[in-house]
Amino acid sequence: MPFGNTHNTLKMNYSAEQEYPDLSQHNNYMAKVLTPEVYASLRDKETPSGFTLDDVIQTGIDNPGHPFIMTVGCVAGDEETYEVFQDLLDPVIQDRHGGYKPSDIHKTDLNFENLQVNRPGSHPKTSLVSFKPPDSGLLFQGGDDLDPNYVLSSRVRTGRSIRGFCLPPHCSRGERRAIENLSIESLDVLDEELKGTYYALKNMTEEEQQQLIDDHFLFDKPVSPLLLASGMARDWPDGRGIWHNDNKSFLVWVNEEDHLRVISMQKGGNMREVFTRFCTGLTKIEGLFKERGHEFMWNEHLGYVLTCPSNLGTGLRAGVHVKLPNLSKSDKFGEILTRLRLQKRGTGGVDTAAVGGVFDISNADRLGFSEVELVQMVVDGVNLLVDMEKSLEAGDAIEDMIPEQK
Ligand code: ADP
Ligand code: MG
Repeated sequence: MPFGNTHNTLKMNYSAEQEYPDLSQHNNYMAKVLTPEVYASLRDKETPSGFTLDDVIQTGIDNPGHPFIMTVGCVAGDEETYEVFQDLLDPVIQDRHGGYKPSDIHKTDLNFENLQVNRPGSHPKTSLVSFKPPDSGLLFQGGDDLDPNYVLSSRVRTGRSIRGFCLPPHCSRGERRAIENLSIESLDVLDEELKGTYYALKNMTEEEQQQLIDDHFLFDKPVSPLLLASGMARDWPDGRGIWHNDNKSFLVWVNEEDHLRVISMQKGGNMREVFTRFCTGLTKIEGLFKERGHEFMWNEHLGYVLTCPSNLGTGLRAGVHVKLPNLSKSDKFGEILTRLRLQKRGTGGVDTAAVGGVFDISNADRLGFSEVELVQMVVDGVNLLVDMEKSLEAGDAIEDMIPEQK
């Protein structure tokens, strides 16, 4: 498994120039920022737990690019990483998060009631007439109107880190197991719709694990080079597992890329219901950890602090699996997604390509927008994408439906 020579103290016998990585073939945010000067000024620094610059950047060195997304190319090993290595990470964050400045303040909004109905009148071709969700009564509520003929499933996830423990690229076996135990103890208290069970990866059969992966409930095996090169897959499967409620609509991953990944998902297009369960469950989990003396890593500039700088802020990815066989063939598809501040992936996860015109479409932003704002962008954007798909299906042009840059 590739992992840096980061704790090799003899490396300081060599000059910064002699140690500087070869980034000539690289296309990630870290590689853009890490000049020889930045490397030289940060290479002998470490966080209180001992995370070094070489630990931060190793994943971006070993993974010059990615076929489907522009990766960040660096990770945090603990909460202090973002401070100690800010000369590297501030510009990475600024570049990745649309100009988010070191002085900017992040906002949190986990009140699902704030989702709006932006649909009626959004466009003359809107298919409101042709689709009404069942039991909707007279009014649409924001987010409950994604057309299930196109939207196969809806999901909202975030990550949370527990203050005082190193993050997955750097945590020890003992820390990882302590987080697992703390999670089991806390999640066990959830009741009613959220009542669930923890399944340790090491107690699962190969078949059980594969079934959960195939059904989109469980993180992949540690095959991603991004995960491997960052050190996050050390000791696999020790301390990893999945907790979920009985009908698998509320799930928590333990010790994958983040200490916790909290997920709400269900079939169909009722994003409001998914987001409601997400907010309620997440708030309860935060309370349960607090009762046990553990806060989540958070500050007003970075919001929730997570392993990958791309997830800072809300850590929220709200997404749908949606059928867009016609629209995705248009050469404007990429530009339309950018304008709606959305991103696409394959439905098998971040490392997969789309198959059969079905895409995972989700918010591109994490930081500087609140949770509600991001989910709203997904709901409004996906509704428009589906309207465009219907137009193309009917043989109509979509030129006049192309949105302005959000
Ligand atoms: P994450 O951002 O949560 O890390 P990944 O792209 O790594 O997402 O995918 C993790 C898993 O979640 C994959 O199995 C993927 O198919 C599943 N998934 C993601 N979005 C959805 C969705 N809207 N509906 C169903 N499954 C989904
Ligand atoms: Mg992932």
